[in-house]
Amino acid sequence: MEITGAPIFNESGKWKGVVLVFHDITELKRLEQMRKDFVANVSHELKTPITSIRGFSETLLDGAMKDPALVDQFLNIIYKESTRLQTLIKDLLELSKLEKAEFNLNLENIRLDQLLQDLLTIIEPSAEKKTIRIRKDMDPDSLIEGDSARLKQLFLNLLTNAVSYSSQNGEITLILRQLEDKVHVSITDTGIGIPKEEIPRIFERFYRVDKARSRNSGGTGLGLAIAKHILEVHEGKIEVDSEPGKGTTFHVTLPKRLH
Ligand code: ADP
Repeated sequence: MEITGAPIFNESGKWKGVVLVFHDITELKRLEQMRKDFVANVSHELKTPITSIRGFSETLLDGAMKDPALVDQFLNIIYKESTRLQTLIKDLLELSKLEKAEFNLNLENIRLDQLLQDLLTIIEPSAEKKTIRIRKDMDPDSLIEGDSARLKQLFLNLLTNAVSYSSQNGEITLILRQLEDKVHVSITDTGIGIPKEEIPRIFERFYRVDKARSRNSGGTGLGLAIAKHILEVHEGKIEVDSEPGKGTTFHVTLPKRLH
């Protein structure tokens, strides 16, 4: 709480009293702290791959180049870390676009069942690598109004997470239901699950339950923050059910028509 005060006088200049103004600055302070944390997180996330790229290229230049096995190993690391940087920058730009007040959706009529089918084709190879079975049950001809590129990104983020946070031989189930004026999509995995107390935080930028696992799978920690924003601009919502060790379901609801 911040208090500012000013004396008040009557017409003849006689002191009448004091006006006290109470400013509730808790919200302002919280926002300022969030901004600071964000800048610190971005700096840290950028610094890690850059340090690694510099270190490995320096070692190569200092002589490791003469050993073909090392060249191969180090170049692979440099390639992986620069890809991480690229993904991170792409996600940061996307997030900042979505957060702009004047952000415009590119609205069109979309066959959601088709859009989801295309995404399943994209994630199939990585699911196959872990022998994860994909099951689907989708109402056909599910037409909705939306921004196709954004919706693709939203569902791709959820599906890639379902693969990343699953172990070998898991199962992912995708269900699409058409209701009267909305559609409901659920993505269920049989993966590691999320502890109950962590669920409210996973939509925060850079929040990860397990940092090492997220980094290893190429995650930026921004996927769900982006997903939440895409849903907000589409007047939709997202909910999570999860049990550690058993799996997770993300429920997405989208209106068929935007207001
Ligand atoms: P990341 O790039 O780390 O995957 P996200 O924003 O997509 O970032 O997700 C935030 C965190 O939420 C993840 O690091 C992970 O801890 C948790 N999470 C997201 N999806 C799942 C899932 N399907 N199963 C278990 N944990 C998940």
